[in-house]
Amino acid sequence: MRTDTIVAQATPPGRGGIGIVRISGPRVPEIGALLLGKLPAVRRASFTRFVDGAGVPLDAGFALYFPAPHSYTGEHVLELHGHGGPVVLEALVARALELGARRAQPGEFTQRAFLNDKLDLAQAEAIADLIDAGSQQAARAAMRSLQGEFSAMVRALSEALIELRTYVEAALDFPEEEIDFLAERELAERFQQVRDRFESVTESARQGRLLREGMTVVIAGPPNAGKSSLLNRLAGYDAAIVTPIPGTTRDIVRERIAIDGMPLHVLDTAGLRASAADLVEEEGIRRAQAEMARADRVLFVIDAAADPLAQAYREERARLPAGVPVTLVFNKCDLATGLPVADTVSGPPTLTVSALEGRGLAELRAHLKQCMGFQSVEGGAVSARRRHLEALGRAREHTEEAARQLGATRAGELIAEELRAAQRALGEITGEFTSEDLLGRIFAGFCIGK
Ligand code: GDP
Repeated sequence: MRTDTIVAQATPPGRGGIGIVRISGPRVPEIGALLLGKLPAVRRASFTRFVDGAGVPLDAGFALYFPAPHSYTGEHVLELHGHGGPVVLEALVARALELGARRAQPGEFTQRAFLNDKLDLAQAEAIADLIDAGSQQAARAAMRSLQGEFSAMVRALSEALIELRTYVEAALDFPEEEIDFLAERELAERFQQVRDRFESVTESARQGRLLREGMTVVIAGPPNAGKSSLLNRLAGYDAAIVTPIPGTTRDIVRERIAIDGMPLHVLDTAGLRASAADLVEEEGIRRAQAEMARADRVLFVIDAAADPLAQAYREERARLPAGVPVTLVFNKCDLATGLPVADTVSGPPTLTVSALEGRGLAELRAHLKQCMGFQSVEGGAVSARRRHLEALGRAREHTEEAARQLGATRAGELIAEELRAAQRALGEITGEFTSEDLLGRIFAGFCIGK
């Protein structure tokens, strides 16, 4: 049991109508009694003053007391709903610190909820995904994971593996006996059922990861080809949220657009060239280039009227991030007479659009989704992360190895061991098997106060 008590502002920094400070841990009853004069009624909103050491009010508002274990963290929790000003809220935090709490680390409330079995690891991650969701679809997928749909799928898969293992052990544990033909067929069928389950869980998780992480596109092409117009058209056409993304990549990520809920991160090469002369920016450029090299696709925009042979692309090709697939977008088709005649047989796929009139935009959107294998799954996707897909992949490999062993050696112990390893890999998703290290990394990605 954790013995320290943590405190943090639960609402975002800045000014707002209401601001919430949350305290969790064994010292909550004592801190609450001193901060409020007396401990409020259990799980009832009580209007009260929040006072300092001399009894002078710091603020007044509602207090909510959730005794353990019926709280978010599973510990005693006190929520103070005060006025949403940074100074007022910091005064409440400072008072809690004075009374023996310490400042919470990012994600520490949720980490405690996980450690107290209030939710499993995939659900804890879904909370962060819900908060960070960039589209309605992503939020809904996160909500499904939070309600345990993804965990239930993984657990069902894990149970299927246990059944398979039990069956293998029963069928193969008697080396002196021949495995009868029926048992062998049954085994093959059961392996196939488990494979099918892997398929469907992996597909849901893949869609979920796409909803969460989206597609990164480099938009390139000569000046005046219509790159900005295309970008605006893509964003406007979707009536999507266009927001600058804060953080390290701010210098190159220009917009965040969603295509049917799949976030589209657009990186702009023009910005790169413009600042290339500035030495101070060198590190930024290096990072931008690395980012581009990891992109999912380059959209190379060409003025179809002025450059129907896509000369600009031929000249620029060598400077584009190596290994990233390219789509040629012939823009301004409203001005071009006839279709562009690029070398489409051996060259990259091409699309013809008019950013001005919106022609070809639906095809471009469909193309981008198709490149990523994204389907607008209604009611299907759960939010998932790279680590979930990796764990699913490993579990799948162990299962296939078990199937191979079955065909080759029929050594029951080896097969069972592979199936056990597969199960352990699945257990990493829900957090049955995890290292401190992994937990640390996961919760460090949360915001403070969650
Ligand atoms: P960028 O320099 O590549 O970002 O190009 P812009 O988006 O700024 O566009 C350059 C010019 O081309 C602007 O005057 C646009 O209005 C015009 N333009 C962009 N797309 C189209 C199009 O599809 N058709 C026509 N006729 N003009 C376009």
